Amino acid sequence: MGRISDAHCHVTSSLDVETLASILKARNFNCCLMSTYWKDWELIQQVRPLRTLLKSQGVHPWFSHLYRVDKTLSKVEHYKTAISGANADPESFQILLDLLPEPIDLVTDEQDADFEILGEVGLDKVFRIPRSGYPDYPTGEKKKDTGLTRFRVNIEHQKKILGIFLELAHRKRVPVSVHCVKAHGALLEEVLKVYEGDDAAICLHSYNGPISQTHQWLKKFPNSIYFSFPLFAVVEEEQAQKYRDLLKVIPIDRVLIETDQAIDSYESANAQYQDLKKSAQLLAEFTDTSYEEIERTLERNFSRFVNRC
Ligand SMILES: [Zn+2]
Repeated sequence: MGRISDAHCHVTSSLDVETLASILKARNFNCCLMSTYWKDWELIQQVRPLRTLLKSQGVHPWFSHLYRVDKTLSKVEHYKTAISGANADPESFQILLDLLPEPIDLVTDEQDADFEILGEVGLDKVFRIPRSGYPDYPTGEKKKDTGLTRFRVNIEHQKKILGIFLELAHRKRVPVSVHCVKAHGALLEEVLKVYEGDDAAICLHSYNGPISQTHQWLKKFPNSIYFSFPLFAVVEEEQAQKYRDLLKVIPIDRVLIETDQAIDSYESANAQYQDLKKSAQLLAEFTDTSYEEIERTLERNFSRFVNRC
């Protein structure tokens, strides 16, 4: 079994279940397969349990406007609360509204749902809603700036959805994988509403927060916060330096490795594993540790993260 686990990866939601199952069977390393909204959640649920698969349930902040918390709201009322800027540009808002589906009532099914991790959930202050209503994620519009509206998902709405999932994770005692862009202070506040001290296992995925906030996380959750890095994707020296600086502050036993890629976008299981390996190699380099030692540390960290101990 490959020793390095992928702490955060995805699947293209249009994939069929047989293809996904065979892709997963080819992997001899752990994959935390994240869910972003109903489409990939339904797909992941259909896969029979596999030794190396960790199923996840969650609503990504980029899809959170599609979910309604207050059932008494009509479609228009819901989207007017969930999306910010509706009143400033009613004409464009109407165009978007016509494309958006009937909102889905957020029900977190605790009894029947089969998941070992909660996520992807989180807060994002930068994301803008695409003209099509929601992103074609994780394969499509991730980096393209064209086709975006000026509308954002209201941060209060994002917090509500996040809070519901954090409560669920807390009750079910499962680890959480969290997305955060330019909202680290707000995220910590939300997490502290649910968790007190180290009764959690929280992974800040693709972590890129400021140093001051990193200290805050470590102070509040010294034994239960994890920072996950897709280091293989580092291309610029500036980025590398940012990671080196973060790793001076973050103890090595708090670090996880991830690809954050759709696993079906890889040509082979080995190609995905090479990205994990490259990340581990860079981690070794950045922290001036041997590769063997880093591999052992990552294995221990992952096992602590998923077992919440
Ligand atoms: Zn992700």
